[in-house]
Amino acid sequence: MTTSNNIKQLDKDYIAQTYGRFDLALSHGKGCDVWDFEGNRYLDFTSGIGVNSLGWTDDEWLQAVVNQAGKLQHTSNLFFTEPSSQLAKKLVEASGLKRAFFCNSGAEANEGAVKTARKYSHDKYGAGRSTVLTLVNSFHGRTISTLAATGQEVFHQHFHPFTDGFEYVPANEIEALKTRLNTNDVCGILVEVVQGEGGVCSLDNDYLQALQALCHEKDIVFIIDEVQTGIGRTGTMFSYQQFGLQPDIVSLAKGLGGGLPIGSFLLGEKVENTLGKSDHGSTFGGNPVACAGANVVVDKINADFLAEVQRKGQSLQATLAALPKVKSVSGLGLMLGVEFEDGVLASDIVAKCIAKGVLFLTAKSKLRLLPPLIISDEQIAHGMQVLKEVLESE
Ligand SMILES: *Cc1c(COP(=O)(O)O)cnc(C)c1O
Repeated sequence: MTTSNNIKQLDKDYIAQTYGRFDLALSHGKGCDVWDFEGNRYLDFTSGIGVNSLGWTDDEWLQAVVNQAGKLQHTSNLFFTEPSSQLAKKLVEASGLKRAFFCNSGAEANEGAVKTARKYSHDKYGAGRSTVLTLVNSFHGRTISTLAATGQEVFHQHFHPFTDGFEYVPANEIEALKTRLNTNDVCGILVEVVQGEGGVCSLDNDYLQALQALCHEKDIVFIIDEVQTGIGRTGTMFSYQQFGLQPDIVSLAKGLGGGLPIGSFLLGEKVENTLGKSDHGSTFGGNPVACAGANVVVDKINADFLAEVQRKGQSLQATLAALPKVKSVSGLGLMLGVEFEDGVLASDIVAKCIAKGVLFLTAKSKLRLLPPLIISDEQIAHGMQVLKEVLESE
């Protein structure tokens, strides 16, 4: 019989040891509950890092995925397929952009976004206008180019040289951005509306508006990385919608597939035809099974569903702010970060909550909450009770 210890041993012996895993081997899950191999149950505030937006094994999602796997599991992009075409229509209608490209991960989506910005500029202005600006403390992926786009030194050790043409500007400082744009060498600006891995830090509305205006004025491609914030996570389908923004490119991944690997970048009017035949591609991109799952996710996240995400997010935020040892709460919707008073380590709190059957994440020095979007009020109340007990005993 399989035990958690067998699995941990196999991992230790045979898997590249790149992850600091929680001391937990998971067996199966339903909704917001997941079980280990010994039958212990855990309440989930992680969603597989913002991926399982409908929780574990949602019935409709499962049926769509299983049905599609029994029809066509993969075709290559030499053929037209139904799930990807339908998904593209839904994403275009929900976003106000014009077209979708499908890939398999957030990093790949950002790579495609950067390629598009560079080609747009090259087609129109020729060589030498290829710099992409990102923000200090951003996170855009783990490939050599998306690491170059990531404005956190901690990720840059050991892996030089990186792709040229990325520079960082400080978040929420519009004068610094204006100064940087004095030379005409920037083709794109890539930002997260809420920096997830950076510690759940939101950008200011004024900054976002000024940034968009500068992009328009200077014909710079405005790219929003919605890999973590997108698909309902923050209480609207895309987080930029809460700020009335109209980006030229939007990258997506995590929550889109409801648990299957899928990424996408959406192209607005300015760049909808920038990539032509054979300019970009991905063998697995638009996989019918992943897209069948994503269609269910996007269908379920309607206006009523989003109103519930907003309501639950606000109540969770208020509850968190009133807990002992909490200094501040940040984030939007069901993407929240908690800063503790000095001396309280988020990683310790997470370990103690696991022992009491509740799963949370960290982001830098904060506790991070990314529960399945379907979490109930009762489940939130239970999770908060456990967190309160742990904090009281600190
Ligand atoms: C997770 C994440 C990525 C990278 O996504 P992968 O699927 O791991 O490549 C990129 N951007 C943001 C904002 C993310 O949160």
